Amino acid sequence: MNVMSHRAGLSRLPLRAAAFVVLTCTAILGISGWGEWGSRDALLRGTETEMANLARSLTQHAEDSFDLLDSGVVGVVSRLEMDGTDPSTIAKLRNLLELRKKAIERIHSLAIIDDRGNWLTSAGTVSSTFSDDEFFRHHQISPKREAYVGRPIKSLVDGEWVVTLSRRFNKPDGSFGGVVLATIGANYLSHFYQQYLIGRNSSITLVHGDGIIIARDPSNDKFVGRSVADGPLFRESKLQPSGAYQFKSMLDGVERVSFYKRSGRFPLLLIATVDRQELLAPWRAAALSRMLFVLALAMLIAIIGAVLVRQLQRGQRMAAALAASESNFRLIAEGSGDMVTRIGIDHVVRYASPSSKRVLGWRPNELVGHSALAGIHPADLPVVEETINRLKRGEVDEVRTVQRQRHREKGEIWVESTMRATRRSDGSIDGAITVSRDVTEQKELEERLEALAIEDSLTGLANRRRFDERLDEEWARAYRDRSSLGLLMIDVDHFKAYNDEYGHPAGDACLRTVAKIIAAEAQRVSDLAARYGGEEFAVLLPNIDAAGCARIGERIRKAIRTAGLVHASNETAGCVTASVGGATCRPWLERTGGPGTLVEAADRALYGAKEDGRDRLVMSVEVFNLLPMASGQ
Ligand code: GH3
Ligand code: MG
Ligand code: MG
Repeated sequence: MNVMSHRAGLSRLPLRAAAFVVLTCTAILGISGWGEWGSRDALLRGTETEMANLARSLTQHAEDSFDLLDSGVVGVVSRLEMDGTDPSTIAKLRNLLELRKKAIERIHSLAIIDDRGNWLTSAGTVSSTFSDDEFFRHHQISPKREAYVGRPIKSLVDGEWVVTLSRRFNKPDGSFGGVVLATIGANYLSHFYQQYLIGRNSSITLVHGDGIIIARDPSNDKFVGRSVADGPLFRESKLQPSGAYQFKSMLDGVERVSFYKRSGRFPLLLIATVDRQELLAPWRAAALSRMLFVLALAMLIAIIGAVLVRQLQRGQRMAAALAASESNFRLIAEGSGDMVTRIGIDHVVRYASPSSKRVLGWRPNELVGHSALAGIHPADLPVVEETINRLKRGEVDEVRTVQRQRHREKGEIWVESTMRATRRSDGSIDGAITVSRDVTEQKELEERLEALAIEDSLTGLANRRRFDERLDEEWARAYRDRSSLGLLMIDVDHFKAYNDEYGHPAGDACLRTVAKIIAAEAQRVSDLAARYGGEEFAVLLPNIDAAGCARIGERIRKAIRTAGLVHASNETAGCVTASVGGATCRPWLERTGGPGTLVEAADRALYGAKEDGRDRLVMSVEVFNLLPMASGQ
């Protein structure tokens, strides 16, 4: 259960990694976007503060301007009330008005108007009658003596827009005596505002409390006198003395940020406005380039992340395939009757299949961790090691060895192993898979077959085939070693008669006895006693001279005779006898060459022994001097 949940966790790993990458990228983009939005807000707030300061100081400027106007007006009012409006006073006051206007640049005009609205005197251009003007009617009706700021009016004389500030003066009886008027030109104000460069689509506007525009920069001429009383500012923010305000212009559809300030003392409202887009343009360009950089970074992370996730997936697929092949391997290994082992490059067994119990008598856990070469017969070990080394060196991919190995209970057995190199992903060899089986039975069978192939079944001596092989080998060796080679040919005398008299099975028994006698005389390891055919035997004697050869031949002949096997038909001896022909040679001296010459010589000598009366040894030419002795009894 634990393993299952662990696997499930592993399989979700790429998904989690992908989610992490997505989250990281989103977080980077989000935090950057947030930061940019914050700097945009800060910019807007900074602008609002700037605009607030501007609006405040310009409102102050407007108030100061009207105060200046008013100070002039107040002076004239008090003189008029003290001295009356007779022509001499008016004439004196005219000079005063002129002086004032000259002294204070922003004054457009100053005028004294009588109680019927007629012009009495003035400095600057004014019209001659004011009886219809709004400010005049106000003073006519209202007994209030405060300064009155009237709506902007267009001067009928010079066509300039002006704002009026006026005060009423009373006659000595307290009745309405007339109005002292001061005006300030819209042009003066708009020029003043011009020095504040706050942007292309921005504006500074002074509005009368009624909503009529007094002055504006830019496009003063176009806007002055127009009413914005219907605008959102007048509708929504009637009560606040100041504030920030964002709106979409009804005129050009451009989004703007405004700050307005209402004068506390005069019915004046100053509005400073900037184009939001224009304001944000530098921020937008910088933010865009920064965001592009961050986006590129996020994409880089995403690409690297995607590559890593891919690799993770591939790794997992490979691990899954490996696990599947591993389980297949175990399935095959554990279902096999042969012992399957996995050995490391250090020969240590890493895995052994359950069949190890059957094949070697050891359980898998008793083999794992031990050398795979333990238990191999010391005589076979070098060959096995060399074969494994060839596999390790990469000379071959698969090898087969047959070696004697120790079985826990059975002792020594023959084991055939097929080894195949296993490689790491980089191609280097990290060990081998070995399939081993017990081949003891086959091996024994092989040995038996091998023996059968070279052994005479009746006598147990080497057969003719084996004799021919050994003759060739010994001939070659003698040739090489410059040694001599001897051969004895032994033929049982009158054996046909023996068969006829005692029967064929007795003949066989007789042959076995003769064979034993011959084998007993061929004592050296290199000597070979063979059944040459029928009742004829051969003894190959390497490295022997003619005398030695004759000695052995004679011993054999005597031993057969003294064995005393009854043979009635062998009239001279009454027992089984044999004739022996012997020959020796020195192959490196032979002119005709070839092992056949030795056989021929021995055969000839045997024929000679038969001719001479049987039961004797005859040596071919080289041992001719032995003949008299051989013929003796
Ligand atoms: P000689 O003294 O001239 O050698 O006379 P011989 O009778 O021994 O010679 P011959 O070659 O005429 O006879 C050989 C006989 O050996 C013939 C055969 O019946 C007998 N013989 C050959 N092989 C076997 C065998 O395997 N078993 C038995 N019982 N007899 C065999
Ligand atoms: Mg014969
Ligand atoms: Mg014979």
